[in-house]
Amino acid sequence: MSANVTSTSPSDWKYVSEGGSSIVFSYVGAPSPDFDGTALRLRKVAHYPISPETIVSEDIEEQEDPTILFQCQVIQRLIPSEYLPRLESVDVEGPWLEELARLAEEHRPLERRAKDKIDVRRRKAVLANDLVGGSGWAVEIKPKWGFLPNPTHLSPSTKVTKSQTCRFCMHSHLKTTEGEDASLGYCPLDLYSGEEKRVRKALDVLWDAWVGSSGGVNNFKIFVEGHMLRPTTFPSSLGPIAHQVFSANAAEPSLDTLRDQVISPLLPLLLETPVLRILSTHQRNLDALDIEGLSSLWSETHKPAGSLEAAPVPPLGKGLSQPTIEELENFVDVYLEKHASMDHNHPDTADLRYYCIAYLLSATFKDCSIILRLHPAVGNTPARSSITVIDLDVKSIDRLPTWEKLDQKVVKAYAGVSQPTRCYDRWAPARL
Ligand SMILES: [Zn+2]
Repeated sequence: MSANVTSTSPSDWKYVSEGGSSIVFSYVGAPSPDFDGTALRLRKVAHYPISPETIVSEDIEEQEDPTILFQCQVIQRLIPSEYLPRLESVDVEGPWLEELARLAEEHRPLERRAKDKIDVRRRKAVLANDLVGGSGWAVEIKPKWGFLPNPTHLSPSTKVTKSQTCRFCMHSHLKTTEGEDASLGYCPLDLYSGEEKRVRKALDVLWDAWVGSSGGVNNFKIFVEGHMLRPTTFPSSLGPIAHQVFSANAAEPSLDTLRDQVISPLLPLLLETPVLRILSTHQRNLDALDIEGLSSLWSETHKPAGSLEAAPVPPLGKGLSQPTIEELENFVDVYLEKHASMDHNHPDTADLRYYCIAYLLSATFKDCSIILRLHPAVGNTPARSSITVIDLDVKSIDRLPTWEKLDQKVVKAYAGVSQPTRCYDRWAPARL
């Protein structure tokens, strides 16, 4: 039984932010067990649809949101639900949405107002935990790839490089040479290591990259009472977080002191949680062949039988259909039951689609974020903290060839580095 959001007043919902296709509100009404600490995500619609067909084909009596289905039927079997946001499909009604839209309009940025509005024809919306709003502060970390690849399927030209430097460190190098912001020096294998010294180092480097890029890197973000901070090298730009971690009348701290004070409460949280281990284990298992091994298996499967001439093999992933939710559910059955006993050093061509879907899911885990939430002590309630994994969306299988090309580019750019970073994978399985 889902909560009846239309039993609340539209004025109980405060505008938070919006993206290209959705808009988010947080609950600020009277105390309610159903809605305290929740956020409501609604779909938007353009004022002027591009073509009349978009209106006709728009499925207004929509099914559940695909994000909810994926999380409930796939992700929740791989990550304990206590570490996932509560996502719930809720029913909404036209007049209620119209009133909410009317109240929200003045809070929306002008350029957004000119383009689109809340789609009041929708009958479903998503209710989620409000992970960054309310009192206290939160840190969002995008940890990225937490393992070194299985070396079995690596080619002679990449084996040495890929076995000593992790994918993230190589990619940061490429980004830097292309003038992009990168969290240079941050090694995910440090964050995932479970060793205090290394986790602290990872957090220090993420903080430094965050400040140094004025918040331009996407691996680290800080929210204070629902607002995302934009740091500069002046400590005053970090006033809101300083107020959270120091007493109100403390003198303005130095940047290093502030960094230590912010990182200290995050450290035990990251050392105690099983979440990072769970993420890196799924990343490693699901990417059992590396993209190079997947590509070889693809070529082997598509080689015309008995042909003497070198017939062209279609590019990796060509013609593959996007797996449905049912297929992903079946995949998880096999993954949980048989994956550990499969011989990934000698993959069977009959399992090609299995390995492609596995790679697709590994990409979800390589690209998700975690939110570390710190609630201050209030009255008799002691301070508490929580950790939640977000942005676990299913990726498009059309991206397989893009991922293969990027992998080649990343490794090639790293091949000439005179002093390669040595990344230590503490959880690497013993290989025979
Ligand atoms: Zn690394």
